[in-house]
Amino acid sequence: MRRSREPVGSITVICGSMFSGKTEELIRLVRRAMHARKKVQVFKSALDTRCETTVIRTHDGVCFNALAVANARMLEAMIEPDTQVVGIEEVQFFDEAILSLLQRLADRGVEVIVAGLDQDFRGMPFGFMPTLMAIADHVLKLHAICKVCGREASRTQRLVDGRPADWNEPTILIGAEEAYEARCRRCHVVRNRPRDVHDGTVAGGARRSRGGTTGVRNGQSAPASEAVAPQHSTQLDMFTSNEVS
Ligand SMILES: [Zn+2]
Repeated sequence: MRRSREPVGSITVICGSMFSGKTEELIRLVRRAMHARKKVQVFKSALDTRCETTVIRTHDGVCFNALAVANARMLEAMIEPDTQVVGIEEVQFFDEAILSLLQRLADRGVEVIVAGLDQDFRGMPFGFMPTLMAIADHVLKLHAICKVCGREASRTQRLVDGRPADWNEPTILIGAEEAYEARCRRCHVVRNRPRDVHDGTVAGGARRSRGGTTGVRNGQSAPASEAVAPQHSTQLDMFTSNEVS
């Protein structure tokens, strides 16, 4: 056996629905690393407009300093050579280049801790998150409490003007009141869910494209100009991903 003093890097993914405490857990792990006197840098996507560009904030209002970056390339450029721990909030907002970056960081000994949504509001896998969870060393899936029945919640319910969002509801609804809440599998409702999507895969072929500008409406391609099913599906995602690349 060959023991080395070289640090072993890792990727930890904290995932779950909205309101499941992902940000709290990210902050906890980052703070713990700081107590261990490790050099830490925390990043967030510049697309996350929930709060100021320099902080990440939990739903309870707890703040933590973070650097807002537009994409994976910019994030990489901002990592200092002696950084030992990299934290990323709302990782699903980044472009897919983040995957290879996180692998490279971990391979060179950096402890990577990321938080992100594992499912969109339809209960479908969120972008590259399944891949990220597969290549991670640790995956922590957190749960919220169902707003309807109080059971453990794994889904994010999207509500538009108080009623469950339609499967094909556009990302931005002008003049509509949008809200999100945590729900269990039983209470989670998506209006007009295509019948053939219960295996968690894509509906009727390519549901989403990288640009997020095209979509599939019950198997029919929708015009790119039409507002279609969002690629990302939280209130934070008011942009298509081609704006970040
Ligand atoms: Zn429920």
